[in-house]
Amino acid sequence: MFHGYIHKDLQINSYGSYLRRRFGLRVSKVNVDGGFTCPNRDGTKGTGGCIYCDNASFSPGGTQAVIPLEQQIGEGMAYHRRRLRSEKFIIYFQKFTNTYASVEKLRDMYCRALANPDVLGISVGTRPDALGDDALSLLAELARNHYVCVELGLQSMDDDLLKWMNRGHSLAEYLKTVERVAGRGIDICTHLIYGFPGETRAAFLKAAELVSRLPIDSLKIHQLHAVRGTRLAELYEKGQYQPVSREEYTATVCDFLERIPATIAIQRLYGSAPLDLLVAPRWELKNNQMWYAIINELGRRGTWQGCGVPGVSRQVSNL
Ligand code: SF4
Repeated sequence: MFHGYIHKDLQINSYGSYLRRRFGLRVSKVNVDGGFTCPNRDGTKGTGGCIYCDNASFSPGGTQAVIPLEQQIGEGMAYHRRRLRSEKFIIYFQKFTNTYASVEKLRDMYCRALANPDVLGISVGTRPDALGDDALSLLAELARNHYVCVELGLQSMDDDLLKWMNRGHSLAEYLKTVERVAGRGIDICTHLIYGFPGETRAAFLKAAELVSRLPIDSLKIHQLHAVRGTRLAELYEKGQYQPVSREEYTATVCDFLERIPATIAIQRLYGSAPLDLLVAPRWELKNNQMWYAIINELGRRGTWQGCGVPGVSRQVSNL
C-alpha cells in the first residue's frame, strides 16, 4: 500500500516514519564506537581536525580502548526497547571515520553488528575522502541482504568555508563519492551545518538545491555549535565567532525543508551537546523542544517539507 511521505503531525518526512514505512515496525538506531580514528587528525588528510571537532574526546594516540561491540549493541538495544519499545535496530558506527581501517577490520566490525538477529542493518558515518573502493564494495555486498546507509559529512557546499573549518575535503570530492555510492543498494545520508561566520541564509539554502538534485535518501542538519576544548570554542571566547540566534536557525531550517523533496527523510534537525561541554550557542532548550520549535514553525507558516518544490503535492503518511 502506498504511503505519502509527510508525517501528518510533523509536516516532514521524519526518519522514524521512513523506517516504519520501510520495515513495518519500530526501528531505532543504536550508536556504537568501533574504535576508529580520523584521517583529518593523523596527517593522512590533515592535522588538527575540523574546527568544531571535540578534541577532548580523542586520546593522544588517536585510538582508544572501547567497550566490546557486542556489549555496546546489547546495552543500546535494551535502552531503546525500554524507552521507545523498539523492535528492531540499525547499528550506527558514529564516532570518527568509520571506513578508515583495513577492509578486514571493517568486515569484522560490520558483520559482528549484523550477526545479531534483531539488527536490520548498519549506518556508517564517514568522510567523502575516506571511502575506498574496497570499503565501498564491502558495503555494497552487505547491502544485498541488509539495510546499509553511508553517512557522508559534507557540512558546507562552500569550499572556502570547508577550508575555514579545516575540513580537509572539497565539494567536488563529496560529489564524486555520492556518484560512486549511488545505485549500489546503499542509502546515502548527508550531514550539513548552518551558522558559519559570514554564511548567509541564502547561501545555505543553495545546499537545498544541491541535495534535491542528488540521490540523497536522508539528511542531518544542525547548527554550528562550539563545545569545550575545540578551536571553535577558542574563537568564540576571543569574539571571533558569533553563533546564529535560535530564531534565525529555526527560520532557515524551515526555509530549507520547504525546498527539498519529501522523499528525503530527515534524521536530525539540530545538534545537541552535554550542557557541561556546550560553550555556544546556549539556547537552553531540551532536544525535543528544538525539534518542535522547527515543526511548530512549519505549522505556523502552514507549510511542509517540499511545499516549495515545483509540481509536488502534499502526500500525507499516517505512519
Ligand atoms: S572528520 Fe569528524 S572525526 Fe574527523 S576531525 Fe572532522 S569532525 Fe572530527
